[in-house]
Amino acid sequence: MKTGSCELAVVGGGITALTAAWHAALDGCQVMLLAGDDLPGGLVANIGAVDGFPGSAPVAGMAMAERLMQGIVAHGGIIERSVAEGIDAASGGLVLRTATARWRAGKVIAATGARLAALDVPGAAALRDKGVLQCAWCNAGLYRGRRVVVIGAGDAAFQETLHLAGCGAKVTMVIRGEAVRARRSLVEQAAANEAITFLWSTEVTEVIGTDHVTGVALREHGSGETSSLDCDAVFPYIGLVPAGAWLGDLVETGPAGAVITDARLRTRTSGLFAAGAVRQGYGGRLTDAVGEATLAAREACAALAGNP
Ligand SMILES: Cc1cc2nc3c(=O)[nH]c(=O)nc-3n(C[C@H](O)[C@H](O)[C@H](O)COP(=O)(O)OP(=O)(O)OC[C@H]3O[C@@H](n4cnc5c(N)ncnc54)[C@H](O)[C@@H]3O)c2cc1C
Repeated sequence: MKTGSCELAVVGGGITALTAAWHAALDGCQVMLLAGDDLPGGLVANIGAVDGFPGSAPVAGMAMAERLMQGIVAHGGIIERSVAEGIDAASGGLVLRTATARWRAGKVIAATGARLAALDVPGAAALRDKGVLQCAWCNAGLYRGRRVVVIGAGDAAFQETLHLAGCGAKVTMVIRGEAVRARRSLVEQAAANEAITFLWSTEVTEVIGTDHVTGVALREHGSGETSSLDCDAVFPYIGLVPAGAWLGDLVETGPAGAVITDARLRTRTSGLFAAGAVRQGYGGRLTDAVGEATLAAREACAALAGNP
């Protein structure tokens, strides 16, 4: 079993973890980033043009992540591509467990984000990757001229709908309520796009198909009326599931499993901070990720310097 130690360990491979590690390394802190084994960038890894980032032209999520990783290494940080399986409190610090190593760290920032929630209706699990998809950027080209359904009412659902429509798909957005949570600019673009139609107060109750998606079953909330819609793919963007289980009982979590911190991003365990999409109260945008990462890095570095 490999062992190692560092002043600060940052756990996660998304924009929060990368930014926190970059900031801490820039401050002169001895940093180890435990970046998981997925594509760098986390939720935006597959997004071809992330938006809403001040002063920058739309950039691919992966490119943003790669630049941050280069910056971490350039400032003396170490990057390990493995997954944290657990964490233990130890005298004078914390110990991270991976399948093959134990890392001792003075402070830890948990920034393991979240994964897209899976659609939990009959047919959805069996047809996963056979038309039930969660990466519009990877798959949009396959659906030019074809009907697809996007489920959700947040920024991600609207962004991905616009991308699919921009690639020539005919998109039906199925929205459970009568209101949306997305940015007004995205909603207005979608409303003005003739390739996009909306089904309000409607729920997908089943994904239909044998080898591949051929349609969805729907229920309208007010009337309870049921119907079906032919389509070739279903893209659910129906929320996020925080990835904080590896923190065990060192942290307190809310009902959805997000980690509870105070305003300085401290968890209930001394020396353990949490930031980004894994944290309860996270704002949801990359600018929020960067803000929380900066605060967590500053707090952890100050604590290491003996300025609690
Ligand atoms: C489809 C979509 C499009 C979006 N587009 C935009 C946009 O254009 N603009 C914008 O502002 N926001 C956008 N967002 C929101 C933005 O992606 C998130 O707010 C932000 O990426 C969250 O970053 P994070 O680092 O906190 O979490 P995540 O991105 O979830 O990253 C977490 C990382 O931690 C890793 N990890 C998980 N568990 C472990 C473990 N145990 N050990 C080690 N590593 C682990 C994961 O593999 C992942 O790499 C979008 C979201 C979605 C879903």
